[in-house]
Amino acid sequence: WPPPLPSFSSSSPLPSSSFLLPADFYMAMNALAATNRNFRRAARILGLDSRIEKSLLIPFREIKVECTIPKDDGTLVSYVGFRVQHDNSRGPMKGGIRYHPEVDPDEVNALAQLMTWKTAVADIPYGGAKGGIGCKPKDLSNSELERLTRVFTQKIHDLIGVNRDVPAPDMGTNAQTMAWILDEYSKFHGHSPAVVTGKPIDLGGSLGREAATGRGVIYATEALLAEYGKSIKDLTFAIQGFGNVGSWAARLIHERGGKVIAVSDITGAVKNPNGIDIPILLNHKEATGSLKNFDGGDAMHPNELLLHKCDVLIPCALGGVINRENADNVRAKFIVEAANHPTDPEADEILSKKGVIILPDIYANSGGVTVSYFEWVQNIQGFMWDEEKVNKELHRYMTKAFGNIKSMCQTHNCNLRMGAFTLGVNRVARATVLRGWEA
Ligand code: GLU
Repeated sequence: WPPPLPSFSSSSPLPSSSFLLPADFYMAMNALAATNRNFRRAARILGLDSRIEKSLLIPFREIKVECTIPKDDGTLVSYVGFRVQHDNSRGPMKGGIRYHPEVDPDEVNALAQLMTWKTAVADIPYGGAKGGIGCKPKDLSNSELERLTRVFTQKIHDLIGVNRDVPAPDMGTNAQTMAWILDEYSKFHGHSPAVVTGKPIDLGGSLGREAATGRGVIYATEALLAEYGKSIKDLTFAIQGFGNVGSWAARLIHERGGKVIAVSDITGAVKNPNGIDIPILLNHKEATGSLKNFDGGDAMHPNELLLHKCDVLIPCALGGVINRENADNVRAKFIVEAANHPTDPEADEILSKKGVIILPDIYANSGGVTVSYFEWVQNIQGFMWDEEKVNKELHRYMTKAFGNIKSMCQTHNCNLRMGAFTLGVNRVARATVLRGWEA
């Protein structure tokens, strides 16, 4: 320990046969198949009882609801909403709600299962869940989004709750979405701030929650780099996605003196070998809504980002973006998975042969749900922490989890993904056995 770094130089050119995939080219393995494969592999390493393995593969409950709302012009439109509750052996189920056109049952299922392992790796007293509505939030007005969120809440309010299942923001949702869920839920059950996390501060949200996933990504990266005697200020970074997670990660890397040499999102991509001035890029994005026409760097094709030569690649967008089609052309030494399941198992194998070190999603992006836990604790205590305390506790949790993953890697002689999976699966399996089987 630590595993050796790749022998290739990240400055080597792309092989001439390499090509850039069109934006809608999707060769990744189905998200649920990929997640189940990682889980099964961890179960094998642990020698898990096959009955427990089977019970953990099947979600606790899958909810699918029809959500019909009047649009602003009076016409009716229907959407399908999902909530998958994967496991509750370690505590109430926990996970985000996503509004995105690609939301489908398998993906929500996979993400719910990943939340079970993520909360266990973080050692916070929760199980895992995930929800979503297949819609394009950018095409909906604010009042249409509010109606959709309220209808969805009406359909699931009996199945969520402070001690049952606690939603939070994810892609396409934010603190405002949580405020609507809280308000709608409270009509049925009385005022219950702890039923959702990631709320606005004025409604009981936690200081530091907005930045928490990005900040956790940075703490995780620092823990990993320390094993190699490296630090953020000496390295170059490429960041895919400039939403909440990507922009916070970029800002914090910039603050620490690291060089963010490439950034992309759906609007475009920009590169600068001397480092992009992130605060100026943030202002540009705020003012224009896009990464295009930024004069602090050169424009590039967004599909090039994942193949950009850099020390650390941080995918902060959709799942499955690193797959068998492009894995061999990745030229980063480290990949820090700020997104959920950005690397599929086929890509994992290719990258592992190349020696690329991958910090897995269920650890790397767990800062968000960890501060969600702090928010829930503050709501239950009726006491608000200052931001310094939130960040300090987050640092403590992230550092401790890294140490726990490292020992699993040493015990089982496995990579970081299997180190994290075996850690999470083992904790959940222990809780399952302790609760007993008798009906
Ligand atoms: N949506 C985030 C995740 O995927 C946060 C979940 C939460 O805070 O419950 O981890």
